[in-house]
Amino acid sequence: MVTSRSALSREEIVTRLQEILGTDQVETEAQALREASVDRFKKYTSVHGIFDGPIPSAIAYARSTADVSAILAFADENLVNVVPRTGRTATEGGLETIVEDSIVLDGSRMDAILDIDPVDMMVTAQCGVPLQLLEDTLRAQGLTTGHSPQSKPLAQMGGLVATRSIGQFSTLYGGIEDMVIGLEAVLPDGEVVRIKNVPRRAAGPDIRHIMIGNEGALAVITEVTVKVFTYQPENNRFLGYLVDSLPAGVAGLREIIVAGYRPSVARAYSEEDAAQHFSHFADGKAVVVVVAEGPKGVADATAAGVEEIFASIPHEKVDPALIENWFDNLNWGQDKIDAEKREMLEKARLGYTTEVSIDWSGVEELFESVMRRARTEFPRAADLRMLGAHSSHSYQTGTNLYFVYDYDIACEPREEITEYHEPLNAIVVEEALRLGGSMVHHHGIGKYRTPWTHEEHGSAYRLLRTLKDGLDPRGIMNRGTIYPLDDVATPEAEMATRA
Ligand SMILES: Cc1cc2nc3c(=O)[nH]c(=O)nc-3n(C[C@H](O)[C@H](O)[C@H](O)COP(=O)(O)OP(=O)(O)OC[C@H]3O[C@@H](n4cnc5c(N)ncnc54)[C@H](O)[C@@H]3O)c2cc1C
Repeated sequence: MVTSRSALSREEIVTRLQEILGTDQVETEAQALREASVDRFKKYTSVHGIFDGPIPSAIAYARSTADVSAILAFADENLVNVVPRTGRTATEGGLETIVEDSIVLDGSRMDAILDIDPVDMMVTAQCGVPLQLLEDTLRAQGLTTGHSPQSKPLAQMGGLVATRSIGQFSTLYGGIEDMVIGLEAVLPDGEVVRIKNVPRRAAGPDIRHIMIGNEGALAVITEVTVKVFTYQPENNRFLGYLVDSLPAGVAGLREIIVAGYRPSVARAYSEEDAAQHFSHFADGKAVVVVVAEGPKGVADATAAGVEEIFASIPHEKVDPALIENWFDNLNWGQDKIDAEKREMLEKARLGYTTEVSIDWSGVEELFESVMRRARTEFPRAADLRMLGAHSSHSYQTGTNLYFVYDYDIACEPREEITEYHEPLNAIVVEEALRLGGSMVHHHGIGKYRTPWTHEEHGSAYRLLRTLKDGLDPRGIMNRGTIYPLDDVATPEAEMATRA
């Protein structure tokens, strides 16, 4: 727990927020506040009703950029910690309110699609627009963002940009960082900034990237403009292969990429991971999944190129209809979240993930070393029910590995994180860093990978730190996220801003 630095009491914070926003935009109901103190990193404890961190003073619902500005200016002046949120699907503790009496600034009521421009091929939406709604609206007009994370039914535009999210069709469309044209954000002192929409520019460093991935630790993103593409699912080609191992599958993906093909989906699953995703046909094998899309000629040529590459890789072919059907059921809506909660309570079993990235040449060693360490060094290895990995996003120089682990919980619910999740997460992160990869591919650092933020960035950490000092000198934005807790705005910086 981190002590509040504000001179205001909890009650005074609530009263001032109500004066700023009106009472209907300030939530103080006890259970809502408890649930707002955590995210999915603590899904097991929260399903047991355990909320052991500080409970926020209020959830402040913004309806406009002006509301966001007023809330932040108030918090900044009074040194109140602010945790922004939108879709609430965060998995790494980014939504945890570790500072006493924090304000949770909720942007989900800023949910207007502001402009769809089919000539300049972009759409502008407020931060609280659910991606599913945006996609459904665009597809009805023959357009798509190309963004399709598994959390699409729940995640919203602000959070998707703030976490540098990535979707299933990333090999063709890229991650969110490749899609954002411009955006509006509010800085901690309440100042509104707009990064304009242009196709490209060389006017200094690309400042979009200061906001993309800031995880609510630098600013609140209020509006986003992203590219749109022609939606032509009728041309999609689905391909699936059973191969001997994850490294063999990833070697196939590498050949596809370096040959110059850009399927939208290119994935390889280890035997263990494949057994849970493709139990009806994997048959103990690793699985490769490819989807080619675009204009018919491009989709067909891409599929033909992939088939040619796999002709020289030992494999069994999978019926394309099985792959198509699997895709149709891949995303997670509230129904799956509710089913997961029931299962956690009934079976005392849990699944978590840790995703990292690595050059092609390091894939096999990373996979093998994590599997070995988790099975031999993890003290509760006997409780592991599943441990595997897949590669789901590939690039010219390498790929990601998304480790998945399920375990039976043989301890008190409140100890689950320290007994299971943290040690397994640490093994994956340590191995990725040891082999020169990144400790986080797309979920963000949140609050649980901050012990490695310095190692991740090395000598470039100064650049990251300078952003925090410059934009949030009073240290009110989502403390403990991205930046280690003991590495926030210095008292000197604080005094300087007060002078
Ligand atoms: C079932 C499931 C599947 C997932 N699949 C994927 C996937 O395929 N790809 C992927 O990349 N991620 C995935 N995630 C992780 C998560 O959904 C994404 O990170 C998503 O981008 C979060 O969006 P959100 O609107 O839910 O944000 P939230 O959970 O509300 O917030 C996430 C983080 O961003 C900050 N934040 C939120 N809104 C703002 C804002 N307006 N301005 C500044 N900061 C803000 C928060 O403080 C927090 O640190 C998945 C999560 C779940 C639970």
